[in-house]
Amino acid sequence: MNLNNIRKIIKKGAVLENVPMSKHTTFRVGGPARYFITPHNTAELAGLVRYLYNNGLKYYVIGNGSNLLVSDKGYDGTIIDLSSHDGTEFTMLGLDDENDPVKFEVGAGSLMSNLGKLMLRFEVTGFEPLSGIPGCIGGACTMNAGAYGGEMADIVTGAIIVDRTGAVRHLTKDELDFSYRHSAVQDEGYIITKVELELHKGETEKIKALMDEYTASRKEKQPLEYPSAGSTFKRPEGNFAGKLIEDAGLRGYSVNGASISEKHCGFVINKGGATASDIYRLINDVKARVYENSGVMLEPEVRMLGEFE
Ligand SMILES: Cc1cc2nc3c(=O)[nH]c(=O)nc-3n(C[C@H](O)[C@H](O)[C@H](O)COP(=O)(O)OP(=O)(O)OC[C@H]3O[C@@H](n4cnc5c(N)ncnc54)[C@H](O)[C@@H]3O)c2cc1C
Repeated sequence: MNLNNIRKIIKKGAVLENVPMSKHTTFRVGGPARYFITPHNTAELAGLVRYLYNNGLKYYVIGNGSNLLVSDKGYDGTIIDLSSHDGTEFTMLGLDDENDPVKFEVGAGSLMSNLGKLMLRFEVTGFEPLSGIPGCIGGACTMNAGAYGGEMADIVTGAIIVDRTGAVRHLTKDELDFSYRHSAVQDEGYIITKVELELHKGETEKIKALMDEYTASRKEKQPLEYPSAGSTFKRPEGNFAGKLIEDAGLRGYSVNGASISEKHCGFVINKGGATASDIYRLINDVKARVYENSGVMLEPEVRMLGEFE
């Protein structure tokens, strides 16, 4: 890749090389990204994608890295980082709270936690179950993230995306084609730059009480004291991954520093010094043992990037 050409496209954003992905994922593992680029706005992002597409170069977009396992060997392409960097177009917010429903336009890199604070400030309800998800809104929309009976599909009405060729387009909710932990963004390799939301006016006290309740529940049930990527596996139909893992006798099962959480068997945690290979091996062991025990094949929810053996 010719960095002089890239710097002509990325003028305000950052262009870095050999950046350890352990610093950009909540698992805290992963080798270096050959190129790590943080565009400042949609024009820079679209120009970059167009360049990479025209030159047949591979790339991968990240938000907060909270659902991502990157190989110890790293990634020999370009990471496009849209996570919350104050002042980029991807953390900007537009808001119309004059009417009910309340409409938001949120930059893809905005953290869900920050959005939660805004919802509270503007007395908007409907976001409470999602406010504790430690990702960016772009990642959450891509994953159709959900919690406590709510999911992104409940509140998203559309999105602005950059497609594989670098074209900027608007997608309706129908075109986003949400289903359980899935959206068309994953299939089509789109990059979300902005998410449109519609919620309703509510009452501060009720909103705060619900958010506090969900936060307390997360603290009580989830191993938040360890690095992880949340629930490692998708929920199998009519069952719970954590229960199947526990029934297979895998509570606390470890591969070196990677471990099934004692507190919540649905979480693979980095207990200290785990490598991506340890986590990957653990995931495969768990899949095999659960299948042996219950006949259910677990499917990872966590996205994997790079080479694993
Ligand atoms: C402690 C903990 C608790 C969690 N709890 C929950 C929970 O309750 N519910 C839940 O659903 N998840 C949960 N997660 C998982 C994770 O937070 C969500 O999946 C979150 O939405 C991921 O957002 P992110 O910005 O971190 O995405 P990343 O991890 O950076 O990326 C995830 C995927 O989305 C893609 N992506 C990211 N941004 C974009 C974009 N702008 N455009 C296109 N593609 C993009 C990436 O390429 C990747 O494939 C939890 C994780 C942790 C660590």
